[in-house]
Amino acid sequence: MKIQTADSAGFCFGVARAVKMVRDEAAAGRTVCTLGPIIHNRHVVEELAAQGVTTADTPEDCPPGATVVIRSHGVAPGVIRRLEDRGLRVLDATCPYVAKIHRIVSAQPPGVTVLVAGDPAHPEVEAIVGHCTAPCYVVEDEDKAEKLLDKWGDLSKRHFVLVAQTTFLTSRWHKIIISLKKRCTNLEIFDTICKATEKRQAAALSLSKQADVMVVIGGRHSSNTTKLLDICQEQCPSVLVEDAGDLAGHYALLSRASLVGITAGASTPVCIIKEVQRSMSNLDNINNDMTFEEMLDQSFKSTYNGEKVTGVVTSIKPNEIAVDIGTKHAGYVPLHELTDDPGAAPEDLVKVGDEIELQVVRVNDVEGTVMLSKRRLDAAAGFEKVMAAGETGEILTGIVTEVIKGGLLVLTSGVKVFVPASQSGVPRDGDLNTLLRKEVQFKILETNRQRRRALGSIRAVERARREELAKTFWEEVEVGREYTGPVKSITNFGVFVDLGGVDGRIGLTDLTWLRVKHPSEVVSIGDVITVTVKDIDTENKKVSLIYKKAEDNPWEKIKEIHQVGDIVEVKIMSITAFGAFAQIIPGIDGLIHISQIARERVEKVSDKLKVGDVVRAKITELDYERKRASLSIKALLLAEDQEAEASMAEAAQEAPEVPAEPAAEEPPVEEETAE
Ligand code: SF4
Repeated sequence: MKIQTADSAGFCFGVARAVKMVRDEAAAGRTVCTLGPIIHNRHVVEELAAQGVTTADTPEDCPPGATVVIRSHGVAPGVIRRLEDRGLRVLDATCPYVAKIHRIVSAQPPGVTVLVAGDPAHPEVEAIVGHCTAPCYVVEDEDKAEKLLDKWGDLSKRHFVLVAQTTFLTSRWHKIIISLKKRCTNLEIFDTICKATEKRQAAALSLSKQADVMVVIGGRHSSNTTKLLDICQEQCPSVLVEDAGDLAGHYALLSRASLVGITAGASTPVCIIKEVQRSMSNLDNINNDMTFEEMLDQSFKSTYNGEKVTGVVTSIKPNEIAVDIGTKHAGYVPLHELTDDPGAAPEDLVKVGDEIELQVVRVNDVEGTVMLSKRRLDAAAGFEKVMAAGETGEILTGIVTEVIKGGLLVLTSGVKVFVPASQSGVPRDGDLNTLLRKEVQFKILETNRQRRRALGSIRAVERARREELAKTFWEEVEVGREYTGPVKSITNFGVFVDLGGVDGRIGLTDLTWLRVKHPSEVVSIGDVITVTVKDIDTENKKVSLIYKKAEDNPWEKIKEIHQVGDIVEVKIMSITAFGAFAQIIPGIDGLIHISQIARERVEKVSDKLKVGDVVRAKITELDYERKRASLSIKALLLAEDQEAEASMAEAAQEAPEVPAEPAAEEPPVEEETAE
């Protein structure tokens, strides 16, 4: 059997454009409705329906809020108005060739008679008539045209405009023209038959003249397909099939043919034409023991949703990989079906030539594609692993992919395991987001095979690990040993440090030499610090730690800087009823007793001093044993007074002697004389 396909067959420009517009809208996530089937091909319509595209017969049937796509046939202006009155978004996929006819007829004034060569029941013709404001008549063939002209009698004063349905039979169109030209003196002809249709019909005619049998592929309700069948049937036995599956009904006819011709209507996708071609070709390899139906079945070598297949990676793109699974379909794995990891790149996961196990997700026989998933297959295997881990207590590793209400989702072997917040290991007031994108280890606590759910616990793993570490810790711990660990919690009285399985406590006095109000002034949660074991209570499993370092001891430092009697500038740190404490060096505050504040008696410390004041004072005591220091402003003042007095005295001594003023000469005492 020789098989030949007509030179021009299948999807035309207008149909391909309309289908693309619908697909694009659906892919954009909009609610899409087509007014009538977008094309006369059930495979395409079913495939679009699977993407949520609905079909309505009237504008009133379209769902609210939908984008309504006008198919390539076009519609009358009144239909658009009805859609817009309902507030629906209209996407016009009317074929530009059809729209051109609308423009021609709508431009005719009322005195012109418009004739449309076509099928009056065809939606395209109904739409053309709807665009006419002038008188309009549809003629199906030359006889109908003649009858119409007969009704009008004198045609000399009538102006006729003739257009054709785009898919009208060319032969019939020419016959109508001949009839009209004979009688109409004022006839304007617009040849609006689509060139694609003309070419397709011419190719079908040519091939059918040579073939023993013609196979016409297309929808049974497709006007251009049935016209192709008409053309072919005039030349040889011809059958109409919607897809390769329909061939089975024509075995007797086909098996006798030497040359089988194939043509296809404008609504037939190329993949269906190829499928029919392939099925026909496989008939050459006839195994005489097989029935025709069996051979057809074998030739399909198809696949089905859910099937596990092995594929070879043939190309890698950023968003998908192409895979050959050995069937007629072009296999592809979208990135989200390749892996659950949104950050992964396909080239990091597979390379061209890799053989991988996949699961069939969706077979699209119309497009000839099959969507596959590695992720789902991995998840199925992964779920079994998770189930087994639930039985054995095995520790699993996964990545925290989401923080959801009440807990975390951890991805392991393609399975998402729910970890409740209470099992996350994060403190109650902590932030679960700190675990996001982190690798964690967890145990499976519960599984539900029916619902394919699993519940895990990170905390259980941590607890077990801590128990193990704690055992080692108690075997090794000794006073004076140093440990480094993170600060786990802080209280008013101390700090708890994770020593690895055991938390040790640093009391406030062992935290720092400095005087602090709260431990948080020294360390923060999460700080990794080195501590020394101060005391061990093995019975109660308690460890006391020291954080402050001996070399930082201010009582050692002060020895090198000051001694009793030194005059220092000190800052008042606090005030009490009996005096004020002033910082000599960080870590050592000396007491200035109330009696040592001033020369005179002080009633109230705050009358003389306030916190923050910087004053000069004399160190009067440094008690290294009792860690006490005393200061005195008064001693300093008195010393200064003494000094002042001494210097005055000294100055007095050193001053030159002032000679005594000579005594005034007493006047000579006049001797009393006797008179
Ligand atoms: Fe447009 Fe021609 Fe296709 Fe009709 S057959 S939709 S006119 S391209």
